[in-house]
Amino acid sequence: MSEIRFCPRCGKNVLDKAKINWVIFIVLLILTVIVGLVYLVYCVWAKEKVCSVCGFKPLEPARQNAIQDFR
Ligand SMILES: [Zn+2]
Repeated sequence: MSEIRFCPRCGKNVLDKAKINWVIFIVLLILTVIVGLVYLVYCVWAKEKVCSVCGFKPLEPARQNAIQDFR
């Protein structure tokens, strides 16, 4: 589900990842398992993606001549 994007902060192409607030997720999971899972699905499907290296957003479209850094 990750896409290759250009991170201005890293200065290179990286894989994006869904921005998930794990603290909120765990709290919701403790309160109600279903609500916690719904939140997780929402985060994954939301358009909000961040740099998988430094967490920066917004990311730009991948650049052809940029350094590739996939972790
Ligand atoms: Zn970055």
